[in-house]
Amino acid sequence: MIEPHLDEIVDLFYARLLEYPPAAATLSLVPDLDLLKSKQQRYLRSLGCEFHTPAYFESRLKVGVTHLYVGIELAVYQYAFFALQQLLLERIPAQAPDAPQLAMFLLKITALDISLAIEAYEAREKIDFGQRIRTLARKQASLQKLADIDTLTGVLRRKPILDLVQQKLSTMAPDQVVCVLLADLDHFKNVNDTYGHPVGDFVLKDTVERIRATVRRVNPVGRYGGEEFLILLSEANLEQATAIAERVRERIAAAPIQTDEHTIPVTISIGIGAAHGGDDLAELIRRADKALYAAKRAGRNRVDVCVASTA
Ligand code: GH3
Ligand code: MG
Ligand code: MG
Repeated sequence: MIEPHLDEIVDLFYARLLEYPPAAATLSLVPDLDLLKSKQQRYLRSLGCEFHTPAYFESRLKVGVTHLYVGIELAVYQYAFFALQQLLLERIPAQAPDAPQLAMFLLKITALDISLAIEAYEAREKIDFGQRIRTLARKQASLQKLADIDTLTGVLRRKPILDLVQQKLSTMAPDQVVCVLLADLDHFKNVNDTYGHPVGDFVLKDTVERIRATVRRVNPVGRYGGEEFLILLSEANLEQATAIAERVRERIAAAPIQTDEHTIPVTISIGIGAAHGGDDLAELIRRADKALYAAKRAGRNRVDVCVASTA
């Protein structure tokens, strides 16, 4: 039925495509229309041949995928299909005894092709969508990491370090101990007043480097406030925490901070707070703050400890 009308159908098919502007725009990019027409003829000859075999489905899916990869929009592809379907139906002689069955067969076989094509397009969209979600998740995670970091000193900001302490308190057993150090530069206002804010910034950075060089990498450091730093000692008992705090204090006091122009002696006071698994975060910070206050009152450049709220 198709064979005698092959040239006519294909010519009319491309004429109809040109009537639809998006399809015409796509066709205008085709370098060799005759080649496309001969492929179209081959496609029409194969319509419905061996349609019960897996190979038939596979070849139809491939047709969809090919159109997808050369960048033809699904709407254009669907339009083309329905135009072709129409042309084929028009070629069935009305007086033919099996015309209704032929029409039904044609409708089924072309509907199968368009549905397989849509499937190919949708599968691609699903893959794209999944990839986009994964890329966005990666970007979001790296932005989040950046947002967690204090730009001046490069340590964690207040909330992320507090989140880590909270996480530790929530996950450890009630008989386990966790210690935090709250370290505050002594008379830091004087540094700013004497040398200016940029030098103050330099001193803050240098101090953080000294803290980080003294505590192990597994112990997170965060900027709790302007010139106050919180250090989580996840695996230290009170005795070990005190030794670490002393090392930090000594490291900072040992040598003045050297800028291009100035030699600035700096000291730090440290309060140690200790808590058990399940204890309240705010209570732990209060203990560290209380110990820090005691260290300041006792003359600064000191380490003090507060184990319980009543201590
Ligand atoms: P104390 O020994 O009692 O802690 O005295 P202090 O002078 O260190 O404490 P105070 O709270 O009076 O002053 C803290 C100063 O830290 C005041 C503030 O301007 C300064 N500061 C806070 N953040 C920054 C910063 O990012 N850069 C600089 N340069 N200074 C800062
Ligand atoms: Mg302070
Ligand atoms: Mg201070």
